[in-house]
Parts: sequence; structure tokens; C-alpha cells
Amino acid sequence: MAAMTRPLLNRRLAEFGTTIFAEMSALAVRTGAINLGQGFPDTDGPEEIREAAVRALRDGRGNQYPPGPGVPELRSAVAEHQLRRYGLEYDPDAEVLVTAGATEAIAAALLALVEPGDEVIALEPYYDSYAACIAMAGGTRVPVTLRPSEGRFVLDLDELRAAVTDRTRLILLNTPHNPTGTVLTRAELAAVAELAVERDLLVVTDEVYEHLVFDDAEHVPIASLPGMRERTVTIGSAGKTYSFTGWKVGWVTATPALTTAVRSAKQYLTFVASGPFQYAIAEALRLPDSFLDGLRADLLAKRNLLSDGLAGAGFDVYRPAGTYFVTADIRPLGATDGIAFCRALPERAGVVAIPTAVFYDHRDAGAPFVRFAFCKERPVLEEAVSRLKALGG
Ligand SMILES: *Cc1c(COP(=O)(O)O)cnc(C)c1O
Repeated sequence: MAAMTRPLLNRRLAEFGTTIFAEMSALAVRTGAINLGQGFPDTDGPEEIREAAVRALRDGRGNQYPPGPGVPELRSAVAEHQLRRYGLEYDPDAEVLVTAGATEAIAAALLALVEPGDEVIALEPYYDSYAACIAMAGGTRVPVTLRPSEGRFVLDLDELRAAVTDRTRLILLNTPHNPTGTVLTRAELAAVAELAVERDLLVVTDEVYEHLVFDDAEHVPIASLPGMRERTVTIGSAGKTYSFTGWKVGWVTATPALTTAVRSAKQYLTFVASGPFQYAIAEALRLPDSFLDGLRADLLAKRNLLSDGLAGAGFDVYRPAGTYFVTADIRPLGATDGIAFCRALPERAGVVAIPTAVFYDHRDAGAPFVRFAFCKERPVLEEAVSRLKALGG
């Protein structure tokens, strides 16, 4: 019995007991509200990619443990993709590692590179797995807050510079950024790169939304900037780009030494995953760019539909330059606490959103913001917008 008197969940994970997504999704089910909380598409990706997975399954490709670093077809396709899109050259054998989604890549990178006591700088609000993985690695998270300014959440480069100490091991970047929709500009990334070089820091960069950018925003991988290739672990994923979030195919591109380090942790997490889907995503990555153009055009229309609808309902809207989330300020509606607002929203208006305060250490900085996902079918978004008019802003 003595063992049961202490909390079951260990101290490192105690603060990560339940995620906001579980609470809000349960609320959506209970109330029948439209769930714009969790960020997964409500339709599947392209038929030809699904067929490629079926073919791989039928042909017995990937049904047994695939090679630890990933199947050669996918590693080559990832390397070709980085070269074709960004002029970044990676050796598919030594510098590409396939992971169980970006989630495993993030976990493996942090577990491999962070020593207990090391500080890890992360942009706040942060993607929820970052905080938990930093904790699992025994690191200390040091948030740098993206601050709203002129319709965009902005990285304050002085604040970033001030956050670096002698114990800083790495900067964990995310661009395009979830949840704010900010796409870091080339100039901002150049400043981050300069700092990383000057202070000899590693950069782990989560670029799962690399293809989901709008208007004149440009996705720049920080690995492509001077002095950065040798200190950057770049993380990609097929889930968001191709609308197959259940397949869990992600990847890392980095120098041989960094790739080997990440693989050392990864081999004891899942060892390998997603066998047949790796072959299918290898084909997806070789689709003509027109496929991505179509995807972007579709998402852009949905972004505009939801952003305009939220503005019409009285929110102050941060129209995102990338990702499939829009962040809105609830203060024009007379509210200040996003968590209370989101708990009440299903009853009030039949829609579920996520309060972004839960992705901040400085909760006050995030209190009035809520996040809506627009990766949903048009009629779903139209219905959500019409329901939100009930807020009477
Ligand atoms: C969805 C998401 C991930 C997880 O990607 P998977 O490939 O599904 O594991 C990682 N980072 C960010 C910012 C995300 O939004």
C-alpha cells in the first residue's frame, strides 16, 4: 500500500495530466457542438495517396519492421524534396531519419540533445508536446512570448536574446507557428540564426506546416541560412500537408552526427512505425507542386471564410499567414478569460474552440486569445460562422 500513497504520475509529468483537447472534444460530443478545437482535417487526403498505401499493404511492403532509419524510398523522397524546394542538400542515408510523425521527432530530438538542467527556449504559445518533452528530457523550458502587434504575433528579438544564458542548449522553433499562424520572416530567422551561431546553440525547428502558407508569406527553413545547416535539426511531417494525420509519418533532416544522435533516442521509442504508409508518402512527396497549390488555394478560401466570420461575430481576428488555425481576441465581446469563454462557448453558440492560454507559461499574456481550426469542410465552417453570430458582437 505504501507505494500508492504517493502520486502515480511522476513529478516530471505532473503538470501534464490531461490535455485541453480531451476536455474540449468531450464537451463537443456532449453538447453536439461543431468542433473547431482540434486541428485535424475532416476529409481524407488525395485518393492516389491512399491507393499507394493500399498497394504497399497488398504487395507486402512495410508490413514487417521497416529499416530503423526509414524505408530508402521515403528517405530519398525527403532529400529530393528539401533540395527541390529549398536548395538544401541532404544525404538520404546519413542525414534523413523517418519518425512516427513529427511528435516522435520532437521527443527524440529533445531526449537525445538535452542534458538534465539544460535550458530550452521555446516560442510561447507553444505546441503542447514541447513542454512535456522538455520535461521528460529533464530540461528547463524558457518561453519567449510572441506578442500581438499590428495583426500579427511577433517574435521580439531582444527578448529572445535576453533569454539565452550559459545553460541554454537549444532553441526550439516552430514556423509556420501553431497556434498563432505567424510565419517567421527571413529577417527574423536571420536574427535567430545569428544568435544561435554567436552563442553556439542548436536549433530544433518544427516545420510541419511548411506548405500551408498564404498570401505573400514565404516559408524559409532556418537550416538554409548561413552557419545553420550544421547546428539545425529540421522536422517535417506528412500529416498536415497531405491530410493523413492518422498515418504518423514524419522525418528529421540534419547532419550525420545530429541524425545519429536523434536516432539513438528514436530507436528506443517506437523503433519503427507506419511501414506501408512510408511508401505512400514517398509517392506523395513526388506529386507535382500543382497539388500543393490546389491545397493552399482551398485552405486560403477557408481561412478567409472563418476569419471574416469571426470578425463579423465581433472578435478581433489575427488572420494567419500559415497553418490552419486562426487566433481571435475575445475582448471586443466583453470577455477576458479565454478558458472560461471556451468552456461556455458550446452552450452559447454551439462551437468549440481552444483557449490558447493553456499554451503559455505566462498565462496572462495568452488569457484573451482563442484558437479556431479551419481545416474543415466548407459547410461546417459556414454553419459555425452562422452560429457564432449569436454572440451578438
Ligand atoms: C500537428 C503538429 C505536430 C505533430 O505532427 P505529427 O506528424 O502528427 O506527429 C507537430 N508540431 C506541430 C506544430 C503540430 O501542429
